[in-house]
Amino acid sequence: MKLFWRLFLSYALVTVLTVVALLLLTEVFASSFIRQHVEQMVQVMGPAGRSLQVDLTQGMRTTLTGALLIAAPVALLVAFFAASVASGRVVRAVRQLSEGSRAVANGEYRSRLPEQGQDELTDLARNFNRMAASLAAVEASRTELINTVAHELRTPITALRGYAEGLSDGVLPQETAARGVLRESQAMERLVGDLSLVSRVEAGAVPLQVQGVTVQALLSAVEERFALLAVNRKIRLDLRPAPRLAVHTDPERAAQVLANLVGNALKYTPAGGQVQVWAERLDRHVCVHVQDNGPGLSEEDQGRIFERFYRVDPSRSRMAGGSGVGLTVARGLARAMGGDVKVHSLLGQGSTFSLTLPHNPASSA
Ligand code: ADP
Repeated sequence: MKLFWRLFLSYALVTVLTVVALLLLTEVFASSFIRQHVEQMVQVMGPAGRSLQVDLTQGMRTTLTGALLIAAPVALLVAFFAASVASGRVVRAVRQLSEGSRAVANGEYRSRLPEQGQDELTDLARNFNRMAASLAAVEASRTELINTVAHELRTPITALRGYAEGLSDGVLPQETAARGVLRESQAMERLVGDLSLVSRVEAGAVPLQVQGVTVQALLSAVEERFALLAVNRKIRLDLRPAPRLAVHTDPERAAQVLANLVGNALKYTPAGGQVQVWAERLDRHVCVHVQDNGPGLSEEDQGRIFERFYRVDPSRSRMAGGSGVGLTVARGLARAMGGDVKVHSLLGQGSTFSLTLPHNPASSA
């Protein structure tokens, strides 16, 4: 049954019950009250009053019953209007909500409800709109992700096809084709691995083993890993010791973030450049800075490099083995550990990437 009719019937039921109660009261109390008084009056008036007794009693009863019978339909009419006024807003809001949710269920995430008024129904409409907006955002990022992944896979797939065609046409030496296939399949493997990591980081599903770690231990791990690469790339890698600082973090993940920042600095800084790494305490955090004198980043690029797959120079990044999600993962991991990764840069003058992690006073000297 429609909500309006339910509300109307409940109003009407209350009205009918009231009328019946009044009729009963009239019948039981009013009748005996009148009869009593008429009898007293007849006793005072004597025989002359006898003829009036029947008329008076019946007249009174007819008047009361008639009045109630007229009042009942009027009350029902009033109940109908009261139901339409009181339930109108509720019914309208419920109908809009029903249409809105049907639209959202059909994938129309732009559907919104009017937010007029200050009552609970307006709250409901506001929450519905918020839900539709976040569904729209999720859908947009899902579509964007699918498009980007398709785009990212197209490059190695095209290359693989080229090698296969070259081999079957006999124009490409077997060894060259095999090396090419290996390189492209490694690129695809890396992409799939990075994608899975980035989605786990974004879902907060990367398990962390947080403990007290000295910053020096993190710096030493970086030095061990990148010293040779820096020499090969003719870049001076300068790591300033930080003997007194300690952080509260997952050592493996923190080293992974730092390795990403130092790896990028070495990757994008031209030969003859310099990369400096140093740490400082900032209130309740420790900040590890990775500064290079490479190409630097424009304001716009600084705002976008943490997005998935964003690369300032896609071909250069791809050549260097980058998949464009390193900084997304780095920032996601840092945030999951209670820190962050930020960038300060001037185009043409180099960049400074800073990893902040919670300070661990217990382990600091
Ligand atoms: P990639 O795998 O491409 O290196 P990242 O997410 O690590 O992906 O970096 C995103 C982009 O940010 C890079 O493609 C590069 O254009 C830019 N970038 C990162 N680090 C630096 C840096 N130190 N100097 C200049 N550009 C950088």
